[in-house]
Amino acid sequence: MDQEKWIRTWNRWFQRTCETAAGVGAAARCGAAKAGKAAENALSYTRGRVAIADKRAEVNLQLRRIGEMVYATHTGDPTDSAEMQKALEAVDALKAEISAQERALQAIRGVSVCPACGHVNPSDHVFCSNCGQSLTR
Ligand SMILES: [Zn+2]
Repeated sequence: MDQEKWIRTWNRWFQRTCETAAGVGAAARCGAAKAGKAAENALSYTRGRVAIADKRAEVNLQLRRIGEMVYATHTGDPTDSAEMQKALEAVDALKAEISAQERALQAIRGVSVCPACGHVNPSDHVFCSNCGQSLTR
């Protein structure tokens, strides 16, 4: 938290400097503001990767639970189908969240990965430059 606050303060200070300063040194200070923004992006990116890793771990736990329910059914102790449905929907929801977070991280990095062919496009592209797939979903 403190680190994030520090980066915001840093950015504001340099933003003001860029707006008001003129002459020698102003360009260098504006460059430093961009570096501050890059640091902020790097922090958001790292946080996002951690959040996605946590969700992937949760997906694995849910899939394991589902597997155990299927196996219990095989061994003659069928699981309540509502419980199974709930676990399946939990996986659907987690996968949708992961996918949204992946897109947000790609935007931070300034790229958009095609969901059809995996081609890495600049984030301002609406369609994949390799296969034409829409990138706005
Ligand atoms: Zn593509």
